[in-house]
Amino acid sequence: MKKIVIAIDGFSSTGKSTIAKQLAKTLNYVYVDTGAMYRAVTYYALKNDFIGDGFFHEEQLIENLDDVNITFKFNETLGFAEVYLNGENIEKDIRTMEVSSFVSPVATLSEVRRKLVEQQQLMGKEKGIVMDGRDIGTVVFPDAELKIFMTASAETRAERRYKELLERGQKLSYEEVLENVTTRDYIDSTREDSPLVKADDAIEIDNSGLTIEAQVQSILNLINQMIEK
Ligand code: C5P
Repeated sequence: MKKIVIAIDGFSSTGKSTIAKQLAKTLNYVYVDTGAMYRAVTYYALKNDFIGDGFFHEEQLIENLDDVNITFKFNETLGFAEVYLNGENIEKDIRTMEVSSFVSPVATLSEVRRKLVEQQQLMGKEKGIVMDGRDIGTVVFPDAELKIFMTASAETRAERRYKELLERGQKLSYEEVLENVTTRDYIDSTREDSPLVKADDAIEIDNSGLTIEAQVQSILNLINQMIEK
């Protein structure tokens, strides 16, 4: 069967990765979470004190980017690929509120984006890939056969994120999570390099009231129509 590239973009916590993972599993495609890559660079910047409360030494981060080696390794038990920074599994470390608070400023840097986009394009060369992020349909794979743009109300998204973080044992208020989600959306949508925008040819899905199964099924229907053509 013909393999395609599926690009899924959208605002923070729209459930992109949940849908992307399920699609990849059903289609036997590779799933790449590009947000994890920006989070990995942010984790590196935090560890090296290039960023923190009230400061961001952009030049130092840029100068050291060659030392940032991001890889993915499939975890059979979890059913998805975990992210590694210079050989160390940092899958859990990148999901903290601290990383979430600093990732959007880091993702504004063109040098960071150039490095990650290059790696993402290489990963999708053979097609058969589901990639989620903010600029996949616009910058990484402008020729992707299927582009989805996911949205949901800020409150629905914050609620989902809040539950997720609580389940991971992080103690936060719903207001803090909502604030993080809306701030990230604002920075991501207004940055100069590769802002989050819907590609002209992307199909928009507002999933505020949709179950995961319904979303996966409707995207699979689109793919089947496309592959049959
Ligand atoms: O998808 P996730 O919420 O983990 O992404 C974290 C952050 O990484 C986003 O808020 C955005 O700043 C950045 N990002 C990006 N481009 C992508 C994926 C993520 O700028 N393709």
